Amino acid sequence: MMIPPGETIGILGGGQLGRMLAKAAAQLGYRVHVFAPEADSVAAEVCARFTCAPWDDTRAMAEFAADCAVVTYEFENVPVAPLKALGNVPLHPNARALEVAQDRLNEKEFVEALGGRTAPYMAVDTREDLDEALVRIGSPGILKTRREGYDGKGQWRISYDHEAEGVSLSGQAMVFEGLVRFSAEFSVILARGQDGSVVFWDSAENVHEHGILARSTAPASAAVLAQVDEARALAKKVADALGYVGVAAFEFFATEQGPVFNEMAPRVHNSGHWTIEGAVTSQFENHIRAICGLPLGDTRLAATRVEMRNVIGDAAEDWAEVLSDPANHLHLYGKAAARPGRKMGHVTRLIF
Ligand code: AMP
Repeated sequence: MMIPPGETIGILGGGQLGRMLAKAAAQLGYRVHVFAPEADSVAAEVCARFTCAPWDDTRAMAEFAADCAVVTYEFENVPVAPLKALGNVPLHPNARALEVAQDRLNEKEFVEALGGRTAPYMAVDTREDLDEALVRIGSPGILKTRREGYDGKGQWRISYDHEAEGVSLSGQAMVFEGLVRFSAEFSVILARGQDGSVVFWDSAENVHEHGILARSTAPASAAVLAQVDEARALAKKVADALGYVGVAAFEFFATEQGPVFNEMAPRVHNSGHWTIEGAVTSQFENHIRAICGLPLGDTRLAATRVEMRNVIGDAAEDWAEVLSDPANHLHLYGKAAARPGRKMGHVTRLIF
């Protein structure tokens, strides 16, 4: 179904991804209504309407839906149950994509069933499970919460010696993963239209520091490029199986055995921020096009090389100095409170 420009797009979640989606929506002539529980949502600053309510306020959700021609999300931990209150308003990507991607175990099982390679893993609910996982999968490994972990939060590196010290298994569902030996990390970002057409951006090579994305560079190194086709084929299979509409990101480890799937995000992704200036059409614009039933734009690189670095925590920089290099594009998300590990902005550098 095509949603014509002029209509209102609803965005669930009020962070920087929503802010950049709202900008792209405005370019195409849409109005944006943000729904988020936090009063200081940075997406709300750049949208026409803002509903500030808890996720389970189904009355507020229904009123929000009544104002929207289509709804999308920028936050993958939106609870699925209250989304029933959206009624007949289309939700893209669909709730199934959200359900699969919200749970690391579901996600791995789903991808494995489609032939994807993952790190060895085991569900862990109790201390006994963890002991068994350490024996079966090996030490050290990484213990991750199945739900709600992000940017390295909710995960612990565990070894026999550590004896899982400091890790509480108080009823939280977890998954234990074997440590993957990788030569590089990269992401596959695709957009899938309502007609099932799929486009991919160049895969960026990603560097994480303390579990948080620090830098993305495109094109990636030869070691990564050799694995991109296989990773893309898997990502497309997952998107097709989910009947996915919109942008999705898949993170991979490049290993000697080939690409190992780590996790997917049913949304625009930090490792695709470089596409705003660095690709002919950005991930944000193509997401809006896809959910509104419009044709997808060209995803090719718009420079020889593109480098994106995140601005994290309270590292105050001299922004005029950053911009004194005309190759740099500065994006600040307008977050009031800087905290260690918080994503405050990013800088994209184009090299011709
Ligand atoms: P995640 O939250 O799962 O994306 O993990 C954040 C980062 O931790 C990844 O991008 C990797 O750098 C590292 N990491 C996560 N899982 C593994 C693993 N099984 N083996 C090796 N490194 C990992």
